[in-house]
Amino acid sequence: MKEFSTSRRRFLNASVATTAVFGAERSLLADDSRKAGGNSGEAKNVIFMVSDGMNHGALSLAHLYRQRHQSKETNWTRLYQERPVVRSLVETYSHSSCVTDSAAAASAWGCGHRIDNGVLNILPDGTVSTPLHTKLQKVGRKTGLVSTATITHATPAGFAANVPSRGQEKDIAKQYLDRRVDVLLGGGTKFFDADLVQQFQAAGYQSISSRAELKKIDPAAGGPLLGLFSNGHMPYEIDRTNDPALDKSTPTLAEMSRAALNRLQSAKEGFFLMIEGARIDHAGHANDAAASIHDQLAFDDAIGEAIAFIDKNPDTLLVITTDHGCGGIQMNGVKGKPDEKFGPGSYSASNAYFDRLAQFSRSLEWMSQNGIKGLSGDKLAAALEKYTGLKLNDEQTKMAQGLRGGAGVALGQHTGVTWTSQNHTGELVEFCAIGPGSDRFPAFMKNRDAHDILLATLKIAV
Ligand SMILES: [Zn+2]
Repeated sequence: MKEFSTSRRRFLNASVATTAVFGAERSLLADDSRKAGGNSGEAKNVIFMVSDGMNHGALSLAHLYRQRHQSKETNWTRLYQERPVVRSLVETYSHSSCVTDSAAAASAWGCGHRIDNGVLNILPDGTVSTPLHTKLQKVGRKTGLVSTATITHATPAGFAANVPSRGQEKDIAKQYLDRRVDVLLGGGTKFFDADLVQQFQAAGYQSISSRAELKKIDPAAGGPLLGLFSNGHMPYEIDRTNDPALDKSTPTLAEMSRAALNRLQSAKEGFFLMIEGARIDHAGHANDAAASIHDQLAFDDAIGEAIAFIDKNPDTLLVITTDHGCGGIQMNGVKGKPDEKFGPGSYSASNAYFDRLAQFSRSLEWMSQNGIKGLSGDKLAAALEKYTGLKLNDEQTKMAQGLRGGAGVALGQHTGVTWTSQNHTGELVEFCAIGPGSDRFPAFMKNRDAHDILLATLKIAV
């Protein structure tokens, strides 16, 4: 296995180490932007990135996968090694539970209060709280929301909408129009009927619906933008890259992020852009390790776009975090055969087990939607072997029937990746920030604290 040093010396000699380890790859250390901006002061723009439902295990697996199978490191871990990043540990509870859902979690950021699970920006006493988008709009700033879920899903909606139930996605779509959210890119065509799309167009929005159209957009064009690329959620990255039809129709998260940044960069008073890798959470609910890894890596590619932007625009604060864990994904050591040198506890089979995840070419969801859900016995085993490269025994095949959580358990017996549940977790989560105003984030905070700090960073009175 390729070794990567994380020594302090490496940080201090970041540019030298980067050249040595990554060869021709561009260093993330932008000396000029650090001199110009640093971590103090106020920001003109904020890029707020959310890997939804990201257990620490999900970050770890993506990190390891990129090292072992793509011979490089993630942008996220490189940021930590090469730049003066501010880190915080965040407590994610909601008002109603020590385990939050995405609606309450996004509302904590969006309005600065802990509210009940399932609700968007309405306090437990019924008070309708002004969401971040409206506060920013009042001072002339633009807002963009980018997600691989339906764009009306809980996390993007938490920054701009008020509804008593997160399932009211059609109402959320209308609120986006009424409130003039400037850039909307994601899935969820089914919540925007033809009449509503026409209303968006009449209000001056450019409306697009395919990867080709997104690529054709003039990068210098301004004005509001509505891009809906999928009827429901956008496909998992593992399916998008392996299914030519999905690859043709749907853009990557990085491509959507770049388009949103191009569209917002000319905003005179600045902007707030939320970028969500939404399906890491869904992979957690489905106990689908390969889907989790590839969506986390797609999110990491979007981090690369954000870094390129802050290098050119040092007046921009970049935040990267998650709203809660999901599924409790973890890479476990596998003991394998007793090792002559290190004995039975040497985890000698761990690497080989993990590497089997590189054989996977489809998510469990894709398999469900493509005729494999109803299979059993030899037919199911053959189908699973086709898309995962794994030969399940009879007991494992039975467990995998229906392609629900049991499938995750059965496949995990071959990969070493296991789960604690198919639900969200209540763990403390990762938060990092770099750029002007990032030094305001304390080393420990509650999720709701970020709201006021963001406003202060943007020089907006709370
Ligand atoms: Zn979830």
